[in-house]
Amino acid sequence: MNIDFINLKAQYHAYKQDIDSEIAKVLESSAYVMGESVRELEINLARFCGCKYARAVSSGTDALLLSLLALGIKSGDEVITTPFTFIATAEMIALLGARPVFVDINERTYNIDVDKIRTHITPKTKAIIPVSLYGLPADMDSINAIAKEHDLAVIEDACQSFGGLYKGRKSCNLGSQTIRSIGVTSFFPSKPLGCYGDGGAVFSNDEKLDSQIGSLLNHGQVARYSHKYIGLNARLDSLQCAVLNVKLKHFENELKIRQELANAYNSGLKKIDSQNYRLILPYIPESYVSAYAQYSVRLSPKAPDAQYPLSQKILQDKASKRDSLLKALQEKGIPTAIHYPIPLHLQESLAYLGYKVSDFPTSEAVASEIFSLPFSAFLNKDEQDYIISTLSSELQKL
Ligand SMILES: *Cc1c(COP(=O)(O)O)cnc(C)c1O
Repeated sequence: MNIDFINLKAQYHAYKQDIDSEIAKVLESSAYVMGESVRELEINLARFCGCKYARAVSSGTDALLLSLLALGIKSGDEVITTPFTFIATAEMIALLGARPVFVDINERTYNIDVDKIRTHITPKTKAIIPVSLYGLPADMDSINAIAKEHDLAVIEDACQSFGGLYKGRKSCNLGSQTIRSIGVTSFFPSKPLGCYGDGGAVFSNDEKLDSQIGSLLNHGQVARYSHKYIGLNARLDSLQCAVLNVKLKHFENELKIRQELANAYNSGLKKIDSQNYRLILPYIPESYVSAYAQYSVRLSPKAPDAQYPLSQKILQDKASKRDSLLKALQEKGIPTAIHYPIPLHLQESLAYLGYKVSDFPTSEAVASEIFSLPFSAFLNKDEQDYIISTLSSELQKL
């Protein structure tokens, strides 16, 4: 069997008629930039998340950059975030000359450990960017409360969690009225809601922030050729918006299927046992719903771990065991991915921050064990059964 990691082609074929005709409409309209589909998408997105404002933008990365700009983050400021995320989260902070200040993750949710945030707040701290990793919202109420205490802004990096829920509220709209808060997401093709190229969105409930972001994404323009801010070109094309408007109609249904598939993975993988290794399955706290951007598990030795921080030798042994498992799966037609093998505090581009190995032991340990299995609303039952049984037999061999 040859399985797709994310079956985007099957999704396209399922909605092809609608997608092709909406694309054709944009082509005929010749309004390729800021066409009707853009405004329509923004209305649909805001409605989906139950928030007042949404702006379609060119990528999740630009959504982060625009949010930081709108919040006035500048050189010398500090912004608290997690080292266990995609580079863009910290990269946009650094690009503005501000300092990403990392706080380790919770060992079960893989999201920022809220109990560790306070000790990292200094007079220079201006904002917190929690990431809702793999589709599971961060503990936003606790984070918003800390932000309120210290007069900080919050940007939820919901690039992976569009469609996720936290206490009945939609990810991207988990801010608080009493602080400045923004949600950002990405429509990169492999995200829960993806377009056919790069795309993203910025969400808020604050009219001033929203109109500022609306200007910033279009060269800081407030009226034709009148530029109030230094901004950028971060508009989302009409074509991508047209595609997203179609896909959004099917999104609730896809989310339902994603839950069912995740549950099926959980119950199949739970039964797997081997002598030396176990799989740690996704942990979803009560009153949270993950959008399952990734279905990620950890290959963990049954023998109890040494004390954190784990030595380089132990971390490397874990990672190389995982590599051999993933290689065996690949040979059986099962692609996998690692999100993410190197925590951000150990990335070369961020070496100037001065962090070192062992600074964030939980992130380092999880990075050495985690891997993601094929997942999308178009993964079929036979494929999933094959993945579970192959994983089971390969695990026995470790
Ligand atoms: C994908 C992703 C981004 C960046 O989104 P792009 O659309 O690829 O620019 C940022 N943060 C996280 C957590 C992501 O997963």
